[in-house]
Amino acid sequence: MFAEVIIPLALPKNYTWRIPENMLSRLQTGCRVEVNLGKNKKYAGVVKRIHSEKPEFFEPKEILSLLDPEPVIQNFQLELWSWMASYYMCTEGEVMAAALPAHFKLSSETILIFNEEYGDDFSALDNDEYLVAEALLMKHELKLTEVQQILDVAHVYPIVNRLILKKICFVWESLKQSFQPRKESFVLLDPLYDNEEKLSELLNNFGRAPKQMELLLAYLHLIKQQGEVSKPELLKKSGASDAQLKGLSDKGILKIEKRNVDRIIYGPKDIQIDFELNTAQEAALKSLDALFLTKQVCLLHGITSSGKTHIYIRLIERYLRKGQQVLYMLPEIALTSQIIRRLQKHFGGYIGIYHSKFSQNERVEIWNKIKSGELKIVLGARSSLFLPYQDLGFIICDEEHDTSYKQQDPAPRYNARDAAIYLASITQSKVLLGSATPALETYYNAKKEKYGLVELLERFGDVQLPNMELIDTKKIFKKPGEKIMLSSLLLESIHGAVANKKQVILFQNRRGYAPYQVCGMCGTVTGCRQCDVSLTFHKFSNKLVCHYCGTVYPTSATCQACGSDKLVQKNFGTEKIEEMLSEQLPDLRISRMDYDTVKNKNAHDVLIQQFEQKKIDVLVGTQMVVKGLDFDHVGLVGIIDADALLHFADFRVNERAFQMMEQVSGRAGRRGEPGRVMIQALNTLHPVLQHVVRHDYTGMFLEEIEKRKQFFYPPFSRIIQLQFRHRDRDVVTDGANVFARNLGAVYGKYMVGPAEPVINRVRNMFLMEILFKLPRDAMKIATCKEDILKQTAQLHAIPKFRRLVIVPDVDAL
Ligand code: ADP
Ligand code: ZN
Ligand code: ZN
Repeated sequence: MFAEVIIPLALPKNYTWRIPENMLSRLQTGCRVEVNLGKNKKYAGVVKRIHSEKPEFFEPKEILSLLDPEPVIQNFQLELWSWMASYYMCTEGEVMAAALPAHFKLSSETILIFNEEYGDDFSALDNDEYLVAEALLMKHELKLTEVQQILDVAHVYPIVNRLILKKICFVWESLKQSFQPRKESFVLLDPLYDNEEKLSELLNNFGRAPKQMELLLAYLHLIKQQGEVSKPELLKKSGASDAQLKGLSDKGILKIEKRNVDRIIYGPKDIQIDFELNTAQEAALKSLDALFLTKQVCLLHGITSSGKTHIYIRLIERYLRKGQQVLYMLPEIALTSQIIRRLQKHFGGYIGIYHSKFSQNERVEIWNKIKSGELKIVLGARSSLFLPYQDLGFIICDEEHDTSYKQQDPAPRYNARDAAIYLASITQSKVLLGSATPALETYYNAKKEKYGLVELLERFGDVQLPNMELIDTKKIFKKPGEKIMLSSLLLESIHGAVANKKQVILFQNRRGYAPYQVCGMCGTVTGCRQCDVSLTFHKFSNKLVCHYCGTVYPTSATCQACGSDKLVQKNFGTEKIEEMLSEQLPDLRISRMDYDTVKNKNAHDVLIQQFEQKKIDVLVGTQMVVKGLDFDHVGLVGIIDADALLHFADFRVNERAFQMMEQVSGRAGRRGEPGRVMIQALNTLHPVLQHVVRHDYTGMFLEEIEKRKQFFYPPFSRIIQLQFRHRDRDVVTDGANVFARNLGAVYGKYMVGPAEPVINRVRNMFLMEILFKLPRDAMKIATCKEDILKQTAQLHAIPKFRRLVIVPDVDAL
């Protein structure tokens, strides 16, 4: 018998191994096995299929060992992987690499890291495990090849696997290494004193240590109030010293434990629904119920602050009561601590959170709790699609229009919204897409009755949508070449809003200080040496940064080209706005939220909480301030540079600009009096701005869908974008041309390009693109994908193009 095994690599196809006689009865699909690949590489792969078809052209090697007594991957997951690989034109191995937490992926290159939290008590280990654990304790990390040397046995994977399961070590992932979980010491009472009697006995016979007694009482008070007490907090609030705390811990009364601060605390498992829906919400819920009887997918188009989340909560409750699992997907989990807090209030310990910023151990913990059915609700970013649900009933895809649902690099380049719909079809679950500004494709599908459609067009609590005002920056007097950053009207309004005890959000879709600097003498723009883009000046760090490849350059006082010192900074980013604003309105408390200020995992949450608690008057930010946040006191939203949102050479530009402006406007006036939105623009007559001013999604939709039809763009066609990358510009140009010529005969009228993209060089690779716009005919699309892959292989067979990278992106955004 043979096994087809998926290895987490971009192999052209899955390979086959022979199953040893004595393994046959134990091996199941979905189990991991240790296999040799090539001469001396080993991998843990997942068994996809067990069969008796001996491969024709080679003698398969034997599987070395079996790692799992039970499948870790279920059949529906294998089905999802396989669909994803064929739909998004990648390999199942690449999907596997994205789907599994590092713990499940062992290879010769794997490095094991000792888990400090385990301590050094190895009494529960067998001989082999003990040897490795000791080496790990001493050296902190080991390569798998070193483990091989230590153990002197044929197959080390099963032993390593056991060490991981016992949490003695974890697998190091090079890409994720930058994330260091923040640790803090917590103080715990010895469980002996959980008993009231024992505790009062202790307090009555405490003896001569009044300071320690005081400290203990302070501890008992705090723990009762807040459920957990950190060491610094206890020392601060009790005024006690480290030595006094050590005294109590020496006596075995209190224990000090180092813990990962971000570790999820699982609250009690109960459901608390303490609100009623209003009439409109109730009606929407009824319609959804009716539609879900016949539709698998429904769209809830609810304007900003219409109360979509409360409808989600009521639906989640239902599935929970049926005992089914629910996946609540969010575009970017880092941005959603608010939703987490809201849901935890209602569903406590039923909820798990899953995303890539969590440590490996935590991710495996959630993985296992989903598999056992212990956790019922997962709140997660796109990778939460890959969890081993045991009874998935319902998927919510919130802010379904958000481009972060699409993975760009590496493969699989999937859209989690669309993949969720596929996942639902193989698990017989329902999908609810929610948005105030649905993707054009989604709304079109809903209008065509492919999806159920429910619209919620009033704000909760009789709140009005904000008033929209355009500020025409053409009409403002300025020096030649000057660009208006903060008009006096906007400045006055900011001042007025804050004087009225309101808060302000200012939106600028560019971070940094100045997006480019240009030489006043020769006109040279300071650019990245590896990419065809200008560098952004960051004043705080005094560096020039390439936002494409991340390279940081020192600032220079003189022009790269002519040596002149007449460098002029052009345009402005969030950092400059923050600075200008502090100069103009020095009394305000101003903070900035963009990629640069929230690099640290918790920074974002801290900023949001400060804003919620009104410790900040004005929040200046990029896209980050746009997303789904619910604040009580925002009286004014300012969109600083609307023109910049409308100037992209992309068929989705209008849709995107509308979504961004409508979403950020939606943060204004969510309670009580209506808020104000001020939009600064040169081209105030732009149709998108006219739709935004009227909050007219439908108007935008009708206008855009007409253009999509006319120019044969999605949803009328399906697009596959091919990107060619190579260090040599001639090779990339020739390669793309040969490719286009060979497929041109068949796909000519569906093919656009080859052409250089607007940014034609990134990370020292020159780029070319071909775009396929295919009719929505499943057969045709499948054939075209095959042809693209064949043509890619043919091109790679020519020596000149051997290293030409060809990247297909299906439904590229
Ligand atoms: P959306 O997600 O549609 O933008 P939210 O769900 O954030 O809107 O709702 C807007 C505000 O109205 C929130 O502060 C929410 O707490 C409140 N809200 C919505 N529905 C209810 C309800 N049924 N009962 C109490 N408060 C509600
Ligand atoms: Zn110059
Ligand atoms: Zn660069």
